Amino acid sequence: MPVQIRRPDRRECERCGRVERWNEAADAWRVDGGGGDVFCIHEWDINGAFLPFEGTED
Ligand SMILES: [Zn+2]
Repeated sequence: MPVQIRRPDRRECERCGRVERWNEAADAWRVDGGGGDVFCIHEWDINGAFLPFEGTED
């Protein structure tokens, strides 16, 4: 079975509330609706628990 790349299409900063969405065309995160603190060292809610690849638990 091929490796599936699991990529969230949305992430939110747990510190300042900034929300970003994945832009497929730009292949980059883009701010969704503005807001947040530009000086914040963003703590994304997908950190830690998110596994970028399927089947890599071992
Ligand atoms: Zn932030």
